[in-house]
Amino acid sequence: MAMLVVKVGGGRGIDYDAVCADLAELHRLARPWLLVHGGSHETNVLSEALGHPPRFVTSASGYESRYTDRATLEIFEMAYCGKVNKGIVERLQRLDVPAIGLAGLDGRLLSGRRKSTVTIVEGGKKKVLRDDHTGKITTVNTELIRVLYDAGYALVVCPPAISDDHVAVNVDGDRAAARIAEAVKADDLVILSNVPGLLRDPDDDKTLIPHIAPDTLNAHFDYAQGRMKKKLMAAREALDGGVGRVVLGDARIAQPIQAALGGRGTVIGHPTDHRA
Ligand code: ADP
Repeated sequence: MAMLVVKVGGGRGIDYDAVCADLAELHRLARPWLLVHGGSHETNVLSEALGHPPRFVTSASGYESRYTDRATLEIFEMAYCGKVNKGIVERLQRLDVPAIGLAGLDGRLLSGRRKSTVTIVEGGKKKVLRDDHTGKITTVNTELIRVLYDAGYALVVCPPAISDDHVAVNVDGDRAAARIAEAVKADDLVILSNVPGLLRDPDDDKTLIPHIAPDTLNAHFDYAQGRMKKKLMAAREALDGGVGRVVLGDARIAQPIQAALGGRGTVIGHPTDHRA
């Protein structure tokens, strides 16, 4: 059976217990899955506590990201690869799922190019920041994924990835999930966060857009602010890469994955590709 790739965000309000319970049920139903997770809220909390507050920058093309100098990268690893990853693995183990947690750099699961400088716009002016540890995934180690699956493990994956010149790089989790979904030929990619899906008005849950045909996806970018743009970009990359459909679902509800697979959220794909 084709693999399901699930991305769960790291924002406030995400119910990891519900996500893990749902993954455990899918595991019992023999539906293979791979989980990619975020950790932005935990990283912010830890950064503040360690006296190195987060800095979010907006690129010249209008995308928001975390400026990741070396100290930030290390705090990012503590939050993502430490607290959040191991918390999810622990929950899944408690539910009898043979979960194994890996960062993208472990076994070069996710590798790519580092962008050590970033051009940002601040106060209407362009500025170049150096010592950035961010990057773009170029290769997914599908052989490693296959070996671990064949041995019976369920994978829980998070950034950072590893660059071609062997430096850990912060990569966007949604786009990492899209690349993995493409590489493992997933039929579905479910992206869960702390909103019901793509909203016409980000402050009003009642303005949910339930369905987007792939050829109209670009026209929907105007609704997305901040990091929601990255989710739409990830959706576009996944669909272009052959993934059947992408669902933007709510991580704050019971059975969030099965709800998304049942069409709750924003479904991006052709109606004929709805296989849930
Ligand atoms: P995660 O950490 O779960 O990956 P983010 O917090 O980065 O997710 O992105 C989800 C956020 O995007 C929401 O909390 C919401 O505030 C914001 N957002 C911006 N525009 C929209 C929109 N049009 N519809 C829904 N959410 C939006």
